Amino acid sequence: MRLIPIIGLEIHLRLKTQSKMFCACPNVDDAAPINTSICHVCTGQPGALPAVNQEAVRLGVRAGLALNCRIPSEAHFDRKNYFYPDLPKGYQISQFDHPICIDGEVWIEVPGQEKPRDTIRIGITRAHLEEDAAKNIHDGASNSTLVDFNRAGAPLLEIVTEPDFRSPLEAKTFLQELQAIMRTAGVSLADMEKGYMRCDANVSLLEIGEDNMPLQAGYNPKIEIKNLNSFRSVERALAYEIERQEGLYKKGETPQGATRGWDENQGQTFEQRLKETFADYRYFPEPDLQPLALEKIAQEERGRLPELPAASRKRLHDEWGFSADDARVLVGNGWLDFTDAVMGELGGWLESSDRSDKSAGDLLAERKMKLAKLASGWLTSKLAGLLVQKNMALAETKISPENFAEFLHLIETGKINSANAQKLLAIMVETGKDPSHIMEENHLGQMSDPAALTKIVSDLLAQNPDQVKEIAGGKVALIKWFVGVVMKSTEGRANPESAEQEIKRQLGM
Ligand code: ZN
Ligand code: MN
Repeated sequence: MRLIPIIGLEIHLRLKTQSKMFCACPNVDDAAPINTSICHVCTGQPGALPAVNQEAVRLGVRAGLALNCRIPSEAHFDRKNYFYPDLPKGYQISQFDHPICIDGEVWIEVPGQEKPRDTIRIGITRAHLEEDAAKNIHDGASNSTLVDFNRAGAPLLEIVTEPDFRSPLEAKTFLQELQAIMRTAGVSLADMEKGYMRCDANVSLLEIGEDNMPLQAGYNPKIEIKNLNSFRSVERALAYEIERQEGLYKKGETPQGATRGWDENQGQTFEQRLKETFADYRYFPEPDLQPLALEKIAQEERGRLPELPAASRKRLHDEWGFSADDARVLVGNGWLDFTDAVMGELGGWLESSDRSDKSAGDLLAERKMKLAKLASGWLTSKLAGLLVQKNMALAETKISPENFAEFLHLIETGKINSANAQKLLAIMVETGKDPSHIMEENHLGQMSDPAALTKIVSDLLAQNPDQVKEIAGGKVALIKWFVGVVMKSTEGRANPESAEQEIKRQLGM
């Protein structure tokens, strides 16, 4: 018997609007003082009437377009009834049978996977608008529960996927891509740790035969794991749940219950209340709100949709030859605009310097590739590493794309060696100054005077006759030692390769 996991996801995204879903209260985060962004609508006072936030509708439609969904011409709101202290009206305004987005798809590349599951299609069943609930705060000291209504009525987009994932890694990879898409499209901050993106994952196991075909019709009952709030917990909770269900099937049992929670500290899922069925929620159309007309909004939003992460990665690869990994890091870090600006500078400079002869086309392509390699190395490892050390975001530094391009130019033309370039970069991050100036002020530039190098080497050889003899006797490794001394005495300004050549020349090698 072979069991494979069938996984689907439901994601709640907090939309990046000024105000809440159905009232004018500011859409604040958890840092706001308790119960300071509330009104009669979002606290569910009798007679209070909701009004749709048009910006939330716009962002929902934009999200749907970014997920390749169909936007119907009309959608409407429904009441989803349930009783809980964090839900002051006794119902949540949501969308049941006419959501704003249907039938989308996202293609993701799953790192380290073999064909055919290295590039997979994830179907998007639907996405709908709804309001968030308030937040219960359990106060142990007074043994009571307090309610913060700041979150009540915050605008949410709930995205439901098809059960297209076959491993926890696939689910995590999709969520990371979804986060990148939603941030790029300006729909949501999509921060999982802050609760701007919350995930429920459902999983069941399917028995398959030797031919990889299911041995049964339909799926086994799925178990839903609620409220996962980091990429890591999604991956861990699914892995745990798959193993737990496998264990049950092997004992001849079947998984019971429908909803489970995730205990991050214990690393275990645990049984929760029975999930309500659709009938329990008694959905019915929200009588206080008009249906939404979406055609015009969809048309406008289609024109506003920016380049999405997958297209950006492809463009970095196609235009400049960035590797797939480098492109993923740059786009994933939110460094696309900076990279584009840097490469634009370098490109302009390349074209103006390389116009002369017929082979210019090939030469240009070759130099472009070299520059991209140089740029991606200095961006993804050196600059990124420096920022991690300093615990800074790129936007917080004073580095401009123009200065960074000039910095790469200094390296490419051999005006500075790589060790000193690192020092220069650190100063650039701090001060934002022009790299050529920093180089001169701090004497970081490469020695360009051959006569000076000749003199340094001849002095050095004269001062160390024993080592010279040892080299003559075959201990050639000592040449590197001499190179080290040259670098030290020039404070790293000599070019190590030129130094080695000069040492060999003077030794007659
Ligand atoms: Zn309000
Ligand atoms: Mn929901």
